[in-house]
Amino acid sequence: MTRQSITLIGGGLVGALMAQLLARRGFAVEVFEKRPDPRRFGFLGGRSINLALAERGLQALRSAGLAEDVLQQTVMMRGRMVHPREGAPSLQRYGVDDSEVIWSVSRAALNKLLLEAAEAAGVTLHFGQSLVSADLDRQRVVLADEHGTQRHHEASMLIGADGAGSALRAAMDAYAPLGIRVESLGHGYKELEIPPGSGAERFAIEPHALHIWPRGRYMCIALPNTEGSFTVTLFLPAHGPHPSFDTLPDGAAAEAFLHEDFPDLLPQIPRLAEDYDSHPVGTLSTLYLDRWHIDGRALLIGDAAHAIVPFHGQGMNCGFEDTVVLADLLAESGHDSADAFAEFQRVRQPNANAIAAMALENYIEMRDSVADPHYLAKRELGARLAERAPRHFMARYRMVTFTHLPYAYAYERGRAQDQLLEQLLRGSTDAGTVSLDAAVAALQATLPPLPRLRA
Ligand code: FAD
Repeated sequence: MTRQSITLIGGGLVGALMAQLLARRGFAVEVFEKRPDPRRFGFLGGRSINLALAERGLQALRSAGLAEDVLQQTVMMRGRMVHPREGAPSLQRYGVDDSEVIWSVSRAALNKLLLEAAEAAGVTLHFGQSLVSADLDRQRVVLADEHGTQRHHEASMLIGADGAGSALRAAMDAYAPLGIRVESLGHGYKELEIPPGSGAERFAIEPHALHIWPRGRYMCIALPNTEGSFTVTLFLPAHGPHPSFDTLPDGAAAEAFLHEDFPDLLPQIPRLAEDYDSHPVGTLSTLYLDRWHIDGRALLIGDAAHAIVPFHGQGMNCGFEDTVVLADLLAESGHDSADAFAEFQRVRQPNANAIAAMALENYIEMRDSVADPHYLAKRELGARLAERAPRHFMARYRMVTFTHLPYAYAYERGRAQDQLLEQLLRGSTDAGTVSLDAAVAALQATLPPLPRLRA
């Protein structure tokens, strides 16, 4: 029997994992990736950019047989290390112990590992091949190399994993409108670096934490890299009154701003001015589509279908979850990709919308609420309820980060729990004022038990 062929556009994080999972299920997979092979030519000019890997992403990597290899290249992050403007930093742990942590992983190292695994599983990888157009009637695509030389490729089943600026999405939308909506956050980001320590200490600040410098309308975060450096990301309004990227046009202005607002961070970034001047301001948007596929001919996954803002650290994790769902659906579908694509959208779209909303809410939480006494009281009361009534209360962050409960469930349940906490606290900043017995009774009377968790 001939193997069914699949053409994947984009060999980034999601595309590479998708390709491997499909090849392991018997499909003949070809990947076309715009960039040169990062295993031979490096990645993003050699800058260290990292991501937080959480349980959903890890679960997908487990199903690809890659979790252990990836974990070896990560740094464990036990919680948020919050750096107030004044006073000492404090660690807000994510879970009760090290079974509930997230992992900082280099984007470049992870992408290379996934490409390697895809190739080992029999995937054919083509680098330096950019999708130019797709003729969905004739089921073929046009690709161009870095010199602009074009080639045609027959593609009876196309999967677009070509990221937030997806060329396949544009081609599909031109063929039959997908109902695309892009909502800009109005804030941007700039990546900077804390270099490895020069003395006995490899890490200049605590390595096992995701560092946050919350400042109300804006913030900095830092994630550790295995070699001892940290990737620092400064998030600011793109335009408008100070501080915004408009009012900080160059490295000198940025240095003066950090001196005022992030005095403990500034000395850790010796190349601040150079990096600020040479790195672009990244834009942040949420992408919504009414339709992710054109019958059984073309489908979008990962950021190409549902790019979100990065404040829950879930974009890649969500995309990785996509890959397992889709690989299973296609393997079960026989040759009916139209059914598989429709089912994929039915299952995944409500979850993508939910994590998009939670990621937006998390920006406010990270830059502002983590230093707010009422928020901290809610967090504390929630932690006490989770301990006393674990079948009825689980923090939303925990559902999203450490379980496989659908994002849509976590969103709804989180909202209901939050309402209850607000009612119990009535604006108080002291969780100790609430009777725990009465709170547990109210919780159990209001909300059904949580679903049993998969091991
Ligand atoms: P991409 O990673 O964008 O890959 C798309 C691939 O397609 C690329 O290799 C690209 O070269 C290729 N391509 C593009 N156009 C074409 C074309 N025309 N033809 C062929 N190939 C093409 N997620 C997390 O889970 N945790 C985090 O901590 C986290 N932090 C983030 C921080 C920031 C600042 C940002 C911006 C995002 C963050 N994310 C995080 C989100 C994460 O980066 C994305 O969700 C993830 O990269 C999506 O993977 P993808 O493969 O769908 O898209």
